[in-house]
Amino acid sequence: MISFDFDYLTPTTMQEAAELFQRLDQEGKSPYYYSGGTELITLGRLNMAYSEAVIDLKNIPECHAHGLSGDFLVQGSALSLTAAEVANFFPFLTSVASQVADHTARGKITIGGNICAAIFYREAVLPYLLVDSTVIIAGNKGITAKKMSDAFKEKIQLKKGEFLVQLLTERKWLNAPFIHIKRRQQWQTGYPLITIAALQAEDGLRVGLSGLCPFPFRSAAVEAALNKKEFNREEKIREALKAMPSPILDDVEGSKEYRLFALRNLLEEILNWQEGGFKLENT
Ligand SMILES: Cc1cc2nc3c(=O)[nH]c(=O)nc-3n(C[C@H](O)[C@H](O)[C@H](O)COP(=O)(O)OP(=O)(O)OC[C@H]3O[C@@H](n4cnc5c(N)ncnc54)[C@H](O)[C@@H]3O)c2cc1C
Repeated sequence: MISFDFDYLTPTTMQEAAELFQRLDQEGKSPYYYSGGTELITLGRLNMAYSEAVIDLKNIPECHAHGLSGDFLVQGSALSLTAAEVANFFPFLTSVASQVADHTARGKITIGGNICAAIFYREAVLPYLLVDSTVIIAGNKGITAKKMSDAFKEKIQLKKGEFLVQLLTERKWLNAPFIHIKRRQQWQTGYPLITIAALQAEDGLRVGLSGLCPFPFRSAAVEAALNKKEFNREEKIREALKAMPSPILDDVEGSKEYRLFALRNLLEEILNWQEGGFKLENT
């Protein structure tokens, strides 16, 4: 049970949502943007999230957009992971999204909610980070567009009152060769020990990780090591491991040492996939 009461508001335009947030914030009601709502329920029960006014974004049409338009795939932030999976416009996202949480939760968890989550795995961001999608953000000052590489630094960079509206992904990336491997410590659903996602672009291998550090990331230094032509396989892995950001997680899902051991094996698998001609192999 959630131990606090809140007003539930359902704006139908981006402007209305942003204005509501500002007014409720001025009234001291700790407004909370709500997409799938699973995190408010999960963290609210533990008294780790609190709000007196929840602003549900699901009635804003732009947050539900889903389809190809010109050179882009447009995906609204309020689409559930299941909706993205079923439509399967972006198979890389489908692969990652289809292993977040469990089947029932994925029907509620949204793309925007996962990317903006306080729970730090945020696995759905990985495909968007690797193809550097454009992020559409709304707030009191109107609408802005940013590349994901600028908008996401460990977590989504939103000013107070701003919210994520859409993700635009260039068509050319939708069928790029990718591989995604999620290792869990226990059970077949839920949080990762480590998730690795890789995509082969013209300029080389791109790699993103969740579950290794307390934030998901894509690292230029790691990619440089893995793409260095003069290195043999062992050197690529050794230098990539040295280039990983810190801290490495050391928690109930797995010790730091175990994570680094698992990571070494995952990097081997990624290089096998690359050397084997990018055979799609999602495990
Ligand atoms: C059982 C379970 C298992 C899970 N397993 C995984 C897992 O394997 N991998 C993983 O990555 N995550 C996992 N999670 C975490 C889950 O993906 C996140 O909690 C996610 O936030 C839930 O999405 P939601 O749409 O319900 O978000 P909400 O609860 O609606 O929102 C989450 C946060 O994002 C903010 N927010 C939501 N939408 C927007 C928006 N459009 N713009 C700005 N801010 C917004 C909210 O204010 C809130 O702070 C799991 C969660 C549960 C409950």
